[in-house]
Amino acid sequence: MSNFIVLVKQVPDVTQITDNAFNPETGTLVRSRLASVINELDTQALAVAEKMNKLSGGAGRIVALTMGPPMAEEVLRYGLSRCVDTAVLLTSRALGGADTIATANPLACAIRKIAETFFAGSSDYYIVSGMQSVDGDTAQVPAQIAEQLGIGCIAYMTDVDFRDNRFEFSRIISGGSQIVRAKEAPTVLTVAKYEYPLFATFARTRNAKATKVIQWSDEDVKAENIGVKGSKTRVIRVFPPGKTGRKCQRVTDADELAGLLVESFTKADDQQLEAGQGENNYIMPAKRKNPFDRTFEGTEKECKDFEILSDTLNSAGITDIDNIDEQTKEKILASAGEHFHSKALEDMLAGVKLIKPSYTGQVWVIAEHDDAIVHPATFELIGKARQLAESLEVKVGVAVIGSSVEKFGKDLIAAGADTVYAIENKVLEEFDPATYCKALAGTIEKYWPQIALFAATPRGRVLAPMVSARLGCGLTADCTSLDIRDSSRRGQIAILFQTRPALGGNVMATICTKDSRCQMATARPGVMKRLPADPARRGDIIREKANVKKSDRTIDIIKTEHSIGSVNLDAEIIVSGGKGMQNRDNYEKQLAILTEAIGQKLNVSVERGASRAGVEQGFIDRIHQVGQTGTAVSPKLYIAMGISGAIQHMIGIANSNTIIAVNSDPNAPIFKQCDYYIVGTIEEVVPQLALALKENKQETTK
Ligand SMILES: Cc1cc2nc3c(=O)[nH]c(=O)nc-3n(C[C@H](O)[C@H](O)[C@H](O)COP(=O)(O)OP(=O)(O)OC[C@H]3O[C@@H](n4cnc5c(N)ncnc54)[C@H](O)[C@@H]3O)c2cc1C
Repeated sequence: MSNFIVLVKQVPDVTQITDNAFNPETGTLVRSRLASVINELDTQALAVAEKMNKLSGGAGRIVALTMGPPMAEEVLRYGLSRCVDTAVLLTSRALGGADTIATANPLACAIRKIAETFFAGSSDYYIVSGMQSVDGDTAQVPAQIAEQLGIGCIAYMTDVDFRDNRFEFSRIISGGSQIVRAKEAPTVLTVAKYEYPLFATFARTRNAKATKVIQWSDEDVKAENIGVKGSKTRVIRVFPPGKTGRKCQRVTDADELAGLLVESFTKADDQQLEAGQGENNYIMPAKRKNPFDRTFEGTEKECKDFEILSDTLNSAGITDIDNIDEQTKEKILASAGEHFHSKALEDMLAGVKLIKPSYTGQVWVIAEHDDAIVHPATFELIGKARQLAESLEVKVGVAVIGSSVEKFGKDLIAAGADTVYAIENKVLEEFDPATYCKALAGTIEKYWPQIALFAATPRGRVLAPMVSARLGCGLTADCTSLDIRDSSRRGQIAILFQTRPALGGNVMATICTKDSRCQMATARPGVMKRLPADPARRGDIIREKANVKKSDRTIDIIKTEHSIGSVNLDAEIIVSGGKGMQNRDNYEKQLAILTEAIGQKLNVSVERGASRAGVEQGFIDRIHQVGQTGTAVSPKLYIAMGISGAIQHMIGIANSNTIIAVNSDPNAPIFKQCDYYIVGTIEEVVPQLALALKENKQETTK
């Protein structure tokens, strides 16, 4: 008989954001003005636990666990009114302000206590949680809990079955899906999608009201790394997301759209879309002409404060920062006015003395591959790593893990690596987060790079948190921008600033690592630009024998479904269809009409793509799937038909030059993230657009 611990979290309702929820001065979201709800994926985790309990005989106990303020009790009552038998609230002031590592640690300790207290020490239990929460959006906590407990993690789960007395889990992997079993319980399961909601029953709701929620503090569970002190990351600033670089222009007729389509293609240039990428403007303090120059601080205010300090020091003719008398300090404070006071001045004076970078070592990329080819996101990260490494005046290393991976060395060096670490062992033939984590962490500990970048793919998003937890290093998820900057007042020079969207994309946050030997981040595929391959580049390949054994494996892979066939998603034009194409015949028919008309007009081959929902509906094979778990594409022209604009799709097309969308819903989210759009059904728009392209008189030579 298996028991279950479901992790639930109370989150702000980011779907119901009102105007007054924004601070008019900063443009950022005021969390306290948002209603609180249970995290949607955690409701699905409850439903999965209930299904697993039924499948295995229904005699198990379901315990819901949450960490938060006393009001978080509400989400436990939600669980009690559905399927939960026992509810535990982990709450104390000391737990506040935690990052993912300082959240995972007390939760892991609470899980141990739950197993001892309610399961009589039995290890036959499963920890089920939503893959991520809408506020943090990191997907790191469950994997970090698994690592803290020394158990396996099956991430991105979509369904569960029970065969031969064992659970079988379906899950999403890059470019396909998989059915796996856990080698043993306990294990952590994270739910990516499970669309069979549980409803509250009358009897359970009455019971939920009467049930006492058990409260534990950090001391009750003997947590070691908690709150701000136990955190390995620090938020530098929170700011409103920049306006999309897309035009978002509504077009009302097919002739105009045909004209814009032709013009966008013929005038396409390869501009880089990531703000700031390629500027490579960071200069080490020792190389700056003015020794007091601090133009690379994290916030505008800090830069301004240091500018005032530097101007006053220079105009007073001061060159030796150690010999500043009180009179000069008074002078600086007088020039600073309201900008800063004496304590800040002391910190700044200490800051301008610093010239040594806070970290040493290479900039590493952790490569991802499917045994035959390297994932495109790896090449994008190498492009970024080169830029960071040049700023830091260090080398780029690429760690590639598997049973026989030395063969990738040449391509990785051509892409920008200086050293390739081929971490090999037969046991690493299949991706198992536990064995990969052990192998990679062992190699990181040997070389200690200063930065380790992972792709934010289903693999990277489970491996990175496990490695970070094992090595006690901070990790930032899903970054869209990575830069080298200083935080001089805090004594940190040449550190990695990691910027990412948070709260469902409603705010951006810049984060840095603290109290760690390596700065770790995952970065979204399709956001960084890969460099053109240079086959003449030279580099070293170092073979590392990974110290892993068969008994370290935590999962059995029953079946893997990968895309089959061939497709050219490097094409200059891609036309993709989503669920809005209704059925396979309609997808076939409409795409044939449009791709043929475009191909004839522009004399170029046009490739077909699809959203994940389109693939799941069976419109086309999975190899055509575009997006986070499909392929990230960067065509000159991307045409999205009947696609809503989910984040997982949009991050796969972010590097397209021009995006055109056709959708019947005037409020389709994709309209806020594309260049040109037309509101209408595919069935009306496609024939009109094909005709307009035929009749279009524009010159098409570039
Ligand atoms: C872990 C994970 C990974 C994922 N990876 C990916 C990924 O790689 N790629 C991806 O695409 N998704 C991915 N998804 C799924 C993603 O969240 C969305 O569910 C998916 O992109 C939706 O596809 P869609 O836009 O085709 O369908 P829907 O969201 O259902 O949208 C269909 C759209 O069609 C419109 N429509 C309906 N009828 C018509 C008509 N007749 N004419 C015109 N418009 C019409 C509707 O207005 C609607 O906007 C992932 C999800 C998870 C959880």
